Amino acid sequence: MTDHASATADAALHEHVVIIGAGAAGLTAGIYTARANLSPVILAGLQPGGQMTITTDVENYPGFAEVIQGPWLMTEMQSQAENVGARVIYDLVTDLDTSARPFRMKLDSGKVMTADVVILATGAQARWLGLESESAFNGRGVSACATCDGFFYKDRDVAVIGGGNTAVEEALYLANICRSVTLVHRRDSLRAEQIMQDRLLKKDNITVEWNRAVAEVLGDETGVTGLRLSSTGNDDDKVISVHGMFVAIGHDPATKAFADAVALDDEGYIIAEAGGTRTSVDGVFAAGDCVDKIYRQAVTAAGMGCMAALDAERWLGEQE
Ligand code: NAP
Repeated sequence: MTDHASATADAALHEHVVIIGAGAAGLTAGIYTARANLSPVILAGLQPGGQMTITTDVENYPGFAEVIQGPWLMTEMQSQAENVGARVIYDLVTDLDTSARPFRMKLDSGKVMTADVVILATGAQARWLGLESESAFNGRGVSACATCDGFFYKDRDVAVIGGGNTAVEEALYLANICRSVTLVHRRDSLRAEQIMQDRLLKKDNITVEWNRAVAEVLGDETGVTGLRLSSTGNDDDKVISVHGMFVAIGHDPATKAFADAVALDDEGYIIAEAGGTRTSVDGVFAAGDCVDKIYRQAVTAAGMGCMAALDAERWLGEQE
């Protein structure tokens, strides 16, 4: 503990580098900061392993010729971080005070922790429709990531739900893999950028179900077989036959506890410098899906975790 830290931290535990979040970004930041001899602590929060723990087959994470399982990959990543010296603590940050250094965190356990450097890597959660049948078929035909799961529906019929950039991007991506894509949108106009809409409407194998909402995901022991669509106007329900449903109605970054700590954009994502991981507060870095609303892949989150660790190391060097 530095003199400054011991003078200001009262009964708080002081750590040199605290990484908040134990998904691909946080664990990779842990691996790099540990190997740089910075003694990182990773606060693992509510979902250690992050979004990868709720996926099954993964075949787009480089380095594995055969299909691997998301939870297995994250267990390996955590063991790798621990093996090189990162300490994982199962606690949740409920408040982060960045108004003075060392930065001060309140934890769910009641403990207080201070840190010279903080790396925010709390990720995001996909929004779901909230239907019982949707959760019943999650991972068996229901997905929130076309890039992750689209290939499993090669030459089959799928639906994408939503009308924003993500939904249109996912529909276009799936149209290159699947036999047909039905975009289901609750209004009669899309929120997505015009150029994306033009591309969507030009695709022969994409149809749009306007003014429709998913009332029920239909299926059997093989997985999803169709969707019952209700009308948001006055039309009757209709059933479409699909094997996959991709929900693309937005994500929520897990940044509520940091609203007063660092600058967030109007959707709640942490604002980081272009091409880097520095936030609005000197000494606080951010990586992964709590910053990135575009790429949202485990490998890009891991890459950003590495960048945050290198940025943190350089920043600490500048302080000395
Ligand atoms: P979004 O822009 O918030 O769009 C969400 C869509 O889902 C909207 O069309 C919304 O319908 C619909 N929706 C929301 N809740 C729903 C519900 N319960 N049932 C049915 N439909 C529902 O989210 P996003 O597309 O994920 O994009 C998030 C941000 O990332 C945006 O700023 C976007 O521009 C950005 N983004 C950029 C790129 C890119 O630049 N390449 C790619 C992806 C995302 P309504 O339209 O009726 O509200």
